[in-house]
Amino acid sequence: MLEIVDDFDVVVIGAGINGSVSAAALSARGLRVLVVDRGDFASFTSQTSSNMVWGGIKYLQDYEFGLVFKLCRSRARLMRNYPTQIRSIGFLASLGPNAPFNRPMGILGAYLYWVIGIFTTPKPKLFNKRAALKEEPQLNPTGLRGSLEYFDGLLVDNDSRFVYGFIRRATQLGAEALNYHEVTKAEFSKKQWQVTLRDLNGEDSRMVTTRAIVNATGPFANQVQGLLGQESNTKLALSKGVHLTVRRITNDDRILAFWDEQGRLFYVIPLADKSIIGTTDTRVDAPFTETNDEDREFVLRQINQQLNLTTALTKADIVAERSGVRPLVIEGGKSEEVADWHHLTRKHVIEIDSEKRVVTVFGGKLTDCLNVGAEVVAGVAKVGVRGFKRNRWYGEDHFAGLDALRQLIDRQVTNAEVSERLATGLWRRHGNLALTLVADATAADLVEVFDGLGVCLAELRHIAKTERVVRSEDLLRRRLPIALVRSKAELAANSTLQSLLAELRLS
Ligand SMILES: Cc1cc2nc3c(=O)[nH]c(=O)nc-3n(C[C@H](O)[C@H](O)[C@H](O)COP(=O)(O)OP(=O)(O)OC[C@H]3O[C@@H](n4cnc5c(N)ncnc54)[C@H](O)[C@@H]3O)c2cc1C
Repeated sequence: MLEIVDDFDVVVIGAGINGSVSAAALSARGLRVLVVDRGDFASFTSQTSSNMVWGGIKYLQDYEFGLVFKLCRSRARLMRNYPTQIRSIGFLASLGPNAPFNRPMGILGAYLYWVIGIFTTPKPKLFNKRAALKEEPQLNPTGLRGSLEYFDGLLVDNDSRFVYGFIRRATQLGAEALNYHEVTKAEFSKKQWQVTLRDLNGEDSRMVTTRAIVNATGPFANQVQGLLGQESNTKLALSKGVHLTVRRITNDDRILAFWDEQGRLFYVIPLADKSIIGTTDTRVDAPFTETNDEDREFVLRQINQQLNLTTALTKADIVAERSGVRPLVIEGGKSEEVADWHHLTRKHVIEIDSEKRVVTVFGGKLTDCLNVGAEVVAGVAKVGVRGFKRNRWYGEDHFAGLDALRQLIDRQVTNAEVSERLATGLWRRHGNLALTLVADATAADLVEVFDGLGVCLAELRHIAKTERVVRSEDLLRRRLPIALVRSKAELAANSTLQSLLAELRLS
């Protein structure tokens, strides 16, 4: 029998976006919270998104007006509270041969989207074929009927960095956060859970007690319900989505959108000095997926068909790739063999088990994370665990520190462009903490590790030491988007980076 080492008000299982917002929101109420993930923070679905903070224009095709309204409100709230981490971005949607409607219908949809978003984004624009080609000369003119521009938000860094911000906030508010710890067993008696955690690095186990559990395990929600001895009418269907990183294929700083050969929206998304292309939508049975040749060929074919690139993209152009599953909700005990699963709702569902004191989050979008946090707090209160404080649990630090940060960096870095890139990147990712991070940094500490990425040695060291980094991938792929825009060969060939990893003992 394991010794009980700690007692919590709430244990949150899963530290993707939904578990992390839950931990931050519950801690802000003054509750004692443990958030635990068997991988790194945000190492599953929440590191495979398209990085968009969006109202879901495509759900208008399924007449999901309520969902679009809610997502547009969430988008506006997130963009207001994260002015440097999320930027407003134009989507140039090409009305090529696969577009399911003509120009009048297209602009009607874009205007409807703008109205449902209560005019919080710039006004959409419509272009005829000639103007569309002027806006983006690489569009394939064959079958092109024009294009339209609408606006949404984009995470400037990456989804997993955004998630880590909530883990940091939760710990600042008193939560304990453990990555690489798996919940292997949970027993409920006398209104209390005994939860066994296995340390996947040290192979040790420990036991904690808690008054309530939040199951935020994304695609594993049903599986963890089984572990908690629960039955549920809500099931998940899994849809695989793949993104590839390639060289910058357009100089335009907008997202290019078009309809692929299956009639689904497909994107070219700028990330640092590269383009991210995707995504796919393939029904799968298991949550663990990898990018395969069929995915690569599909994604590259869409780009080469829709754009007139000087040199067509091939597999040799792939710098990095990622694959994840969207957990799609099937409510009310319906069969998992739903006929038209492409049209399953993207809404999240919060299930409350008052008897066992468990709150489960099913499905959802990263965009809706602030609502999930608030709904989980309400759910946990409903099962009898209430906190009475009202601390702030989301939002960026006040801008006041950015100028002081610029001055500190300017003292050491003579190139004005590099200095500005470092200052804005450090501010975006660390807020006021960036001031301490650079306070004692020398000019050598502030050299960019890869030209143009705005990441310096001082930042890598700071993250490795303070952000619970266990493996090099945690640092290079999740806390920072370096491995999303540089190939494995480029990472291996960078001697400055390799010496730092050796110094930090990260493999
Ligand atoms: C291809 C794709 C594109 C997307 N694009 C967007 C987009 O642009 N915008 C948007 O808003 N949304 C997007 N989404 C949706 C969004 O990414 C997901 O809805 C969201 O990331 C789900 O987060 P989650 O926290 O529920 O799950 P996850 O991120 O999967 O987190 C669940 C965690 O639970 C952990 N876990 C499971 N079992 C245990 C256990 N026993 N013990 C401990 N830990 C456990 C796992 O390790 C995992 O880290 C996209 C999704 C995909 C797949």
